[in-house]
Amino acid sequence: MNEKERIYSFFHHRVGILATMHEKEKVMAPLLEDKLGIKVKVPKHLNTDQFGTFTRDIERMGNQLEAAKHKAEHALALTGETIGISSEGIFGPHPMFPWVAHNREIVYLVDKENKFEIFGEAVTTDTNYKQKGIKNIQEALLFCVEVGFPEHGVIVRSNNEMIKGIITKEQLEEAIHDLMKKSSQEELMIETDMRALYNPTRMKNIEAATQNLINKIYSLCESCSYPGFEVVERKKGLECGGCGLKTDLIKSEIYKCKKCGVQKEKLYPNGKQFADPGQCPFCNP
Ligand SMILES: [Zn+2]
Ligand SMILES: [Zn+2]
Repeated sequence: MNEKERIYSFFHHRVGILATMHEKEKVMAPLLEDKLGIKVKVPKHLNTDQFGTFTRDIERMGNQLEAAKHKAEHALALTGETIGISSEGIFGPHPMFPWVAHNREIVYLVDKENKFEIFGEAVTTDTNYKQKGIKNIQEALLFCVEVGFPEHGVIVRSNNEMIKGIITKEQLEEAIHDLMKKSSQEELMIETDMRALYNPTRMKNIEAATQNLINKIYSLCESCSYPGFEVVERKKGLECGGCGLKTDLIKSEIYKCKKCGVQKEKLYPNGKQFADPGQCPFCNP
């Protein structure tokens, strides 16, 4: 049995419920159908906003992965199916370079029949995530040019109201006009609409996270060939090529089987046996 046949023996011809109301199936379904053999369905009466929105009108439930799990479980409870799939994104300042915006997408899959769960992820600084105060339509249009409007949608908000999914100049003018009149504020906020269907840049990263999920599933246990043989621990201590002392860089990764529990340590995951002395705290303090 080759890899794909092995994976198909788990998922082929089964229905997978994709918990989205933002058209994520456009990029996710083709990959899931081809690589896993799952028949992807999107439930009609699903409200994923109850699990949190980017516009902060509803707080996210738990952390990113927990939020994704909630969505998938909710979709399964609604439909009575056994495979649930969901995605969840976060945006914000890069943890190490706070002046750069970054986006982390998670795609989660749970299979109740096989008692199997796994998530894939993609992290990128390729995002137009941004917000700005504006006083008039000219300032709004300048912002729009920077964020790739109208292919990417925007949101305009006052202190107590918000208009989402703006994708034409006319809608933008109308929204600004309305909100200024109603709120009598001199300044409104404009921001990128990060919902997948209004943000092709984000959609691309959701596709990358889906591919990562598939790669992880395709990693089979060397002992029992169960899917999802993945890294559970990373060990620091890669020796410096100059002085030979241990650095904080990763020396090995521990893989563990979800089924039989077998573990395997793989050395030098980045393909280098020694750390660059430039990254060594002793050689380059
Ligand atoms: Zn195994
Ligand atoms: Zn050194």
